[in-house]
Amino acid sequence: MIVFPAAAQVKTVTLHPLINDLVKKIGGEKVDNIDLIGETGDPHHFEPSAEQLRQTTGRQLYFLSGKGLESYLPSLRNIIKEPARIIEVGETLPTIEGGCATCDHEHEGHDDHAAHEEEHDDLADPHWWHSIENFRRAARVIEKELATTDAANAAFYKKSADEYVGKLEELERWVRREIATIPKNRRHLATAHDAFAYFCKDYGFTAYPVQGINREQLPDAKKLGSLIAELKKNQVAAIFPEKESNPKILTSLTKETGIKLGAALSADGTNSASYEEMVRNNVSAIVTGLKP
Ligand SMILES: [Zn+2]
Repeated sequence: MIVFPAAAQVKTVTLHPLINDLVKKIGGEKVDNIDLIGETGDPHHFEPSAEQLRQTTGRQLYFLSGKGLESYLPSLRNIIKEPARIIEVGETLPTIEGGCATCDHEHEGHDDHAAHEEEHDDLADPHWWHSIENFRRAARVIEKELATTDAANAAFYKKSADEYVGKLEELERWVRREIATIPKNRRHLATAHDAFAYFCKDYGFTAYPVQGINREQLPDAKKLGSLIAELKKNQVAAIFPEKESNPKILTSLTKETGIKLGAALSADGTNSASYEEMVRNNVSAIVTGLKP
């Protein structure tokens, strides 16, 4: 007699690489997931195709990041019908506003500041995952949604969420120990796109993003001039490129300022084997680049 393993209880779909990791961690064998974005997908620009969505017919839960990251969400809501549900995992997590709140260094001249703020309006910064506390809360969001859909296995989801949250707490202790080796006056994080505001807030860094929230915006000559002045004034020790967004402007910035180029960071979870791996790589790169 052939004994088949028990079929997974919940059929899910994930649309963000880090949430894909989270659903695997919490759902384990009880969840049969289709990861639509894939390891190399850029969550700022990914959009599921009609064919991909057809392949998900009959799935119960669609997990995405939220906070405005997925511009296709309104059209997805038209396609995905009840009883299937779309879960914006980041929706209930604390928000940092885009624009000025994400670069909380002082702007020279108040007019500039006001214009800068207006430009961004009150957009949420979607990169909530760079706060480990947010990621812990996200684990509970996934646990709750899976348990609601599959009440018979609620205890299973709770146990795996408890275990994973414990791992995240351990990860955060490691991050704090590592960051403690960077003197406070050296906690300046200059990066490619504006993705690390949540990290900067949690660990007392000032953010100097060269690009905007979405990877493609580049500063004009005037903004670039004031950015260079600020980097020099604050004796910023390194400028960090990204695995996925590495504009030529970073190289010219390092030439112009004499500031060294750090190791590449991962901003959006693309090409990271797991959330934990992304955090460990980023923190190691930052510590190596900024430690005296
Ligand atoms: Zn990003």
